[in-house]
Amino acid sequence: MFYVLSSSDFLTQLLAEGKNFIGQIALGNNFSLRHREDANVDASELKLYEYPEAAREIARYDEKGNYRPLKTAPSLCRGWLLQLQNIEEMALALEFFYPAALTLYGAWFQKKLEITSLRETLDRQTGMYRVTQKLSDEQATALIQKNCQEGCLRKILWPVTADQEAGPLIVRENEIPLLCREACNLLVAAARKVVKQEK
Ligand code: SF4
Repeated sequence: MFYVLSSSDFLTQLLAEGKNFIGQIALGNNFSLRHREDANVDASELKLYEYPEAAREIARYDEKGNYRPLKTAPSLCRGWLLQLQNIEEMALALEFFYPAALTLYGAWFQKKLEITSLRETLDRQTGMYRVTQKLSDEQATALIQKNCQEGCLRKILWPVTADQEAGPLIVRENEIPLLCREACNLLVAAARKVVKQEK
């Protein structure tokens, strides 16, 4: 497999290889998407959407109606079916569900994905986030455990410091992985709270 053109071409190849899952989503070979826990639910029991932008609405709130600031949090609601017309619409819907997921995986596959360590990300913070540079290694470990390993479906590729090895990536045969190439703004904001000992 070689990632050559657009996200939709790449998605076509991934589906042909049997990669029918990404995060909490199951991908059908008929241009459909649904929550993976609804994979065996009859389509008539799911709320039908037929346009890719519906993904943005579905992803906005969790089951309890809480806003989802992190699109890769494991809190995607169930009960919907996105039935689209073509692979381009499917790739677009995925972009709404999991921003840049296909691009990042494509770049990783080609060994062109640039990784930024946590320290490098924190070192370039300015203003109210500059204080995150004081985050200790122990605090960083606890922060990553809680926010990334328990609260996010992306797989971390970045190390804490630049001289460490980037984490290995184990890709399941039937899955398109969600990758994290550098600490996101939400993690930086959480780091600030830790350093300032806010609750
Ligand atoms: S830093 Fe990456 S893995 Fe951690 S919460 Fe943010 S997006 Fe998810």
